[in-house]
Amino acid sequence: MHLLITGGAGFIGSHFVRYIVNHHPNDHGVVLDRLTYAGSIDHLKAIAGQANWTFIKGDIADAPLVSSILSGEKSGKAIDAIVHFAAESHVDRSIKEPHPFIRTNVVGTHVLLENARRYGVKRFIQISTDEVYGALGPEGAFSENAPLSPNNPYAASKASADLLALSYWRTYRLPVIITRSANNYGPHQHPEKLIPLAITRALADEPVTIYGDGQQIRDWVHVEDHCRAIDLALRKGESGEIYNIGANNEWTNLELVKLILKLLNKDESLITFVADRPGHDRRYAIDSTKIRTRLGWKPAKNFLLGLKETINWYRNHPNDRRLD
Ligand code: NAD
Repeated sequence: MHLLITGGAGFIGSHFVRYIVNHHPNDHGVVLDRLTYAGSIDHLKAIAGQANWTFIKGDIADAPLVSSILSGEKSGKAIDAIVHFAAESHVDRSIKEPHPFIRTNVVGTHVLLENARRYGVKRFIQISTDEVYGALGPEGAFSENAPLSPNNPYAASKASADLLALSYWRTYRLPVIITRSANNYGPHQHPEKLIPLAITRALADEPVTIYGDGQQIRDWVHVEDHCRAIDLALRKGESGEIYNIGANNEWTNLELVKLILKLLNKDESLITFVADRPGHDRRYAIDSTKIRTRLGWKPAKNFLLGLKETINWYRNHPNDRRLD
């Protein structure tokens, strides 16, 4: 397959590029990334110097650029499938300044969809999030049929992009698939996100901040398990379908930070509670029965092991501890 991977220099996108290079060495393609604060070319060593992969620094909302990539003008071959990771991804930033989220996550996705339709792309994977469903009470889990009820501009922009993508399937039969994953963890994540923030602050003996009472519950899935699920959706998924991806691995933020401190042999006195984020969802949980039964996916990574590996990665990569 000749792939276009957008946002491939970010956290999950770069793991996916590595996954493809390792598991499908005959695949090739283009990585398109604007290299915002969240992306780094250093995450793309897997394709550095590989003749069958092209990296393009550019914006998914740049229609002429996207058109020239999909037509094959940029890499000598038309694109078969798009795996669309590129996004503004941090909820806090979306609360402070929503506009970049609308521009990239909604307008950028539309530019990709429109050009995918124009050039007859055979598969469009829209990488989405459980946050589009909004918050849950203490019981139950969101299935793919749950209503969309986003509570912050990030989640609303992703829900909007999902709806646009589905409309391109229903209206034009563009073969779209949506994946909605729970929270990811693993190496290479920007330290603004909870797990790397706790690790990097604790390593520096700095206060580890927690919003509100820390009782918000999230389901954590290892980034490599997520990438395997996306790859299955890409190769075996059905057009027009949505697949939830979760590991049934729920932790309150406070429990999780305490575990990280314990693994690092640091004192819980580093924990500092700060005013809660507005519209902070209390609990997310994902029912991933569909992808497990229809595509045979299940998470493989043991959480404690994955967390220890992640901690070691940040310990060994002090340059990735910056927060800019
Ligand atoms: P990230 O912020 O680490 O990476 C995003 C990447 O997109 C960066 O490399 C950035 O440079 C690039 N980008 C941003 N705007 C762009 C634009 N206009 N044009 C081209 N490239 C642009 O994000 P992530 O955590 O890797 O998330 C990737 C995708 O997965 C997102 O769509 C996100 O909504 C989704 N997702 C993330 C999680 C999670 O826990 N991180 C969970 C579920 C779904």
